[in-house]
Amino acid sequence: MRIAEGFINIAEAFVNFVYPPVCSTCTRNLIRGEAYICAKCWNGFERVAPTETIIQTIEEKFLADEAIDKIDSVFLFEQDPRVRTAVHLLKYNGAEVIAEKFGIYIARKIVDDEKLSMCNAIASVPLHDARKRERGYNQSELIGRSISKELQIKFEPNILRRVRQTQTQTLFDAEGRKRNISGAFDVEERFLPEVRGRKILLIDDVITTGATIRECARVLKDNGAVEVYAASAAITI
Ligand SMILES: [Zn+2]
Repeated sequence: MRIAEGFINIAEAFVNFVYPPVCSTCTRNLIRGEAYICAKCWNGFERVAPTETIIQTIEEKFLADEAIDKIDSVFLFEQDPRVRTAVHLLKYNGAEVIAEKFGIYIARKIVDDEKLSMCNAIASVPLHDARKRERGYNQSELIGRSISKELQIKFEPNILRRVRQTQTQTLFDAEGRKRNISGAFDVEERFLPEVRGRKILLIDDVITTGATIRECARVLKDNGAVEVYAASAAITI
């Protein structure tokens, strides 16, 4: 076993020497401790700046129907192609390390927020079981776990369940997305005590129109949650 591991390490070192891993967004060689994306790129990603106009835009777009009580996000999805690359890696290349990083960024941003960081539990937007099996993981759940670890808040990955497989939201306009996602989630009876009277922070990887996360929030409220907050790695505003 030791010998085999040693051999793999040598083989890996050789491959890394001949083909050094490069940053997926700027193609510079990665250094030790970096994976997929270099530190410089992470630090340079376009952020959701806490200016009055941006906060107002976000509140008008995502909080209007009062399903979600407060929302925050770290990176701008549309404005920065590097952010889209990171999200793509997270979804399709099994880059769980990206999820961890996103979780750390979200945790750092919300740690002092009197609502988002004062929730009773963290939950994530669920994937349908078939989709999760196909991908091997739910990227939003991985981000939720990372935030939970950072902030020491309980993570409840199963309080929301996706009961209906839906078509991908990108096929629809805002109205169509709302219809497509309606009735897609529920709370299992045995998880009701975790929802009733609680304040829950819901996590998604990317929030675009907000139709999905708003529907999740509505279902939590219908099942007795007192407040529902939302946070994501990236957002379209
Ligand atoms: Zn880079």
